[in-house]
Amino acid sequence: MTIFSHYLPVNLIFGAGKTEVLGEEAAKYGRKAMIVTGRGSTKRSGLLDRAKALLEKEGMEVTVFDEAEPNPLASTAMRGAAIAREKGCDVIVGLGGGSIMDCSKAVAFAACNEGPIFDYIYGVKKGAGALPLVLVPTTCGTGSEGNCFAVLTEDETRDKKSLRDNAVIARASIVDPELMTTMPAHVLASVGFDALCHCMEAYMSKICDPITEIMALEGIRLIGGNLVKIYEEKKKGLTDPAAMDMDAWSAVCLASTYGGMVINQAGVTAPHGLEHPASGMRNITHGRGLAALTPVIYRRTVEAAPETFAVISKCLGGADEKDCVAVIEALLDSLDLRTTLSAEGVLPEDVEWMTKNAFKVSAAGLQNHPKVFTEEEVAQIYREAL
Ligand SMILES: [Zn+2]
Repeated sequence: MTIFSHYLPVNLIFGAGKTEVLGEEAAKYGRKAMIVTGRGSTKRSGLLDRAKALLEKEGMEVTVFDEAEPNPLASTAMRGAAIAREKGCDVIVGLGGGSIMDCSKAVAFAACNEGPIFDYIYGVKKGAGALPLVLVPTTCGTGSEGNCFAVLTEDETRDKKSLRDNAVIARASIVDPELMTTMPAHVLASVGFDALCHCMEAYMSKICDPITEIMALEGIRLIGGNLVKIYEEKKKGLTDPAAMDMDAWSAVCLASTYGGMVINQAGVTAPHGLEHPASGMRNITHGRGLAALTPVIYRRTVEAAPETFAVISKCLGGADEKDCVAVIEALLDSLDLRTTLSAEGVLPEDVEWMTKNAFKVSAAGLQNHPKVFTEEEVAQIYREAL
């Protein structure tokens, strides 16, 4: 018997060129906007200036907080929130990739909730709302525009864990595939693989509901059919969207948003569960950490859920559960993304800490995985992925 609840109130505005509605969307929720962004790409691409102009055209005051970093730290969000309070900002606009969107959600939350944000992440305190958020993703990976998560790293403990609060679901998310075309090829490869992992992990999660299942499978199929195609375009050095296969870009962007939405409902499983300690500890690129861990974990999982892996394999162009891991590895090869944890900077002596930390920060994800691993098995996976 099927029993579930599915709650995800975000206005998704999707399509090439849709960034143009940013001003009018944000103006629905406030008069003083804080744009949260990073130090680099949105400035280089001119997007930050464009966003400011769109907001100002609606008569809004704009403050820019440009300190969001990859694997954002809790302290960064607290700093942004203090500025948002001081300036009286009443709407937060997140402009950038996954880390930046997560940071902007945390800023929106911390602006309304006193004390360390990890107190809320660990359930010591209960949140009381957040400033309204409008998100404009510039990478197609995390799917943060479609969920209630903000993944943060605690400065001292290096715990990397999600704030989960419906108050940080964006009021509106503008997903404009044209913006994604400015990503360098290697970034596209790692974020695209992250999106695939979200869909695969949600699909195999023990708490996947029927609506989530449909979106997850479609996400896997869209990435399987299009990610390599657009990666090749970036490798060739194409920069003009008019010269690119925008249907393929749209397909991957849509899959990425699905990926964010499906993990909101079904959670992630072991690959994300084991990747977070690695990137919390060594600040490695999330998608590359997943590339190192996923084949190792799935090889140990196929037997526990052969039908699930057969379906995933078919969505990616394979035959059955027996070739699923090989099909994923071939995709990683095509994306120049075959790697190991040591190549990413993880040391053999980190295994013990990562193993303990995985059971601390990722307990739910490990439980949702089709095969529940023991501590010794997790340590073995880390060692094999080194
Ligand atoms: Zn992820």
